[in-house]
Amino acid sequence: VNDTKIALVTGANKGIGYAIAQGLGAIGYTVAVGARDDARREEAVERLRATGADAFGVALDVTSDDSVAAAAATIDRTAGRLDVLVNNAGIGGRTDGGAQDPTTLDLDVVRAVLDTNVFGVVRVTNAMLPLLRRADSPRIVNMSSNMGSLALRTGPVMAAYAPSKSMLNSITVQYARALADTNIIVNAACPGYVATDFTGFAAPRTPEQGAAIAIRLATLPDDGPRGGFFDDDGVIPW
Ligand code: NDP
Repeated sequence: VNDTKIALVTGANKGIGYAIAQGLGAIGYTVAVGARDDARREEAVERLRATGADAFGVALDVTSDDSVAAAAATIDRTAGRLDVLVNNAGIGGRTDGGAQDPTTLDLDVVRAVLDTNVFGVVRVTNAMLPLLRRADSPRIVNMSSNMGSLALRTGPVMAAYAPSKSMLNSITVQYARALADTNIIVNAACPGYVATDFTGFAAPRTPEQGAAIAIRLATLPDDGPRGGFFDDDGVIPW
């Protein structure tokens, strides 16, 4: 019997996802590095291994049913179960030409953003649920954003991205309710404003700081909160 816990992080080749993978690796998790590009994935796996982490690559494009099914099969073959799923992969979507101004909204941008940020999470979660059900204390963390908070109304106007995170928050609550009678704990996280490709590296927080809340929710005790939305300071209003 192998007691090492297995964590899949989507979009783990760079940014906050990479930092989550590194952080979970540092506390003894075997990390499945989910990434769509072969070269970027293998480079990240090598970098993680150089930090001492036990990591392996999983080809994963969250917008593809076939890719997600193949990723689940790879993890099943490699580990036989999944202890932690971090749905981190996300896109901001094009903003040129008023594409995310609601008054000129480009619906193709909305579709692309939802396909990654919302449908991608559902695709990956449902493909991984059979593996998560085999774990003793499974955890699912959905990387959201306070831009999705209807109460805070924060950040720039981005009429594809912000609603995608509002919907992700709503889906998180739906999963938590559907899984209330199981040992699977589901929560949403906001990393804060983090210097990555996503923000053009013009943001105050490091990827490690952004990763901290996801790692905390990924390692919650069995009596931890369910169906919530958290950042480093605690509960974020919906
Ligand atoms: P990055 O752009 O640095 O990284 C995004 C990651 O997602 C990359 O690994 C990217 O892969 C991957 N990805 C995108 N689309 C897909 C796909 N279809 N299949 C698989 N992987 C995909 O962004 P961040 O690290 O900043 O963001 C990570 C998460 O945190 C996102 O969900 C974002 O919305 C959220 N967030 C970020 C904030 C910030 O300030 N940075 C603030 C609030 C939330 P590839 O390299 O192949 O493109």
